[in-house]
Amino acid sequence: MVQSHPREGGDPSLAGRPREGGGPITIAVLPGDGIGREVMDACLELLEALQAKGGMPRLECTKYDAGAQHYAKSGEALPAATLDAARKADAVLFGAMGWPDIRYPDGTEPIPQLDLRMALDLYAGVRPIRWFPGLPKVLSDPRAEKMDFVLIREQTEGLFYARGKGKVENDAEAYDTMQITRRGTSRVSEFAFRMAAQRAAEGRPAKVTCIDKSNVFTSMAFFRKVFDDVAAKHPLVEKNYAYVDAMALDMVRKPWTLGVMVTENMFGDILSDLAAGLIGGMGMASSADIGDDHGLFQPAHGTAPDIAGQGKANPSAMFLSAGLMLEWLAHRHDDPRLLAAARRIEKALEHVLANKIAVPTEYGGAAGTAAMTSAVIAALDVAPA
Ligand code: ATP
Repeated sequence: MVQSHPREGGDPSLAGRPREGGGPITIAVLPGDGIGREVMDACLELLEALQAKGGMPRLECTKYDAGAQHYAKSGEALPAATLDAARKADAVLFGAMGWPDIRYPDGTEPIPQLDLRMALDLYAGVRPIRWFPGLPKVLSDPRAEKMDFVLIREQTEGLFYARGKGKVENDAEAYDTMQITRRGTSRVSEFAFRMAAQRAAEGRPAKVTCIDKSNVFTSMAFFRKVFDDVAAKHPLVEKNYAYVDAMALDMVRKPWTLGVMVTENMFGDILSDLAAGLIGGMGMASSADIGDDHGLFQPAHGTAPDIAGQGKANPSAMFLSAGLMLEWLAHRHDDPRLLAAARRIEKALEHVLANKIAVPTEYGGAAGTAAMTSAVIAALDVAPA
């Protein structure tokens, strides 16, 4: 589902580059802070176990420092060596970063993931949401079991363009400016249409919804106009539109009707937490940050200071994000073994949850991070791809 494609005019060989000489795939691992570290250790254990089963290329995973707690120790939230390693690696696996009370001198929070998005030009934030047996039934309508949608969030501009540039005038007025560019909107819309076409090839409806607020804001009307220009190049994929407020309602009212959706940065930020709520919480919500040349994979949740250090974090979102990474690498390196490995993770987790072999504490069960991890590792054998 997470495809890889080069930018227009870019090096097409990057899209399906076979691995030379069968060397390892390099993964820059950034565990970060709080439960980011806990779910990352669990994930590395799972990836080790998966590789030990054979049948897939070797992953060379190397940990690097970054995050709020590293900033408190060293004065750097994203060291140059870490950024360099992320740039050079085949993919980046990311835990979570940020910590209450650790702030820059101006009061803002170190958020290295935002810096990485900009530095690696990770313009498409991919948030897949799917219900499967064993997950909490947050909505009472049985059709909610059919929900299977993907929210794509533009990540390099939008309202987040204002980060670090906002101003307060005379302690009386404050301004943050939203930026929508043709380039930024085109490439993320193009990504969404290609993803819809790929999902259609897998038997799902070929549909992309543009989420905006074009009835009120000029910038959003422009977003829709550029979306339409891209849609015209994809006549086989149905397009439609929703205002962001109406979409917030529909996500709760009839999420089973949704397919691929594309939206501006801030709207995507908010809607992706709502979407995670539909499958019971942050511990199941995976995400991928994709650019033309790089991919970063992380659970959608934060560092959860309220449960950090207690061994309670649900590692499922981290596992599913590692699955997205393997899927993206499979397309990028044209290696079906990686796709099979991704499916194996997903199927093992589904097996554990559907059969209640381990129920995460997040859902009222007794399984903390370690118990969830060993259950999923054991299920790799009963649920081969
Ligand atoms: P951020 O601002 O970085 O997104 P946040 O504090 O708003 O962080 P989270 O850290 O994602 O949000 O936590 C939100 C809630 O979800 C918390 O109650 C936290 O304990 C819970 N939570 C988040 N991730 C998990 C997880 N993997 N397992 C169990 N509970 C989780």
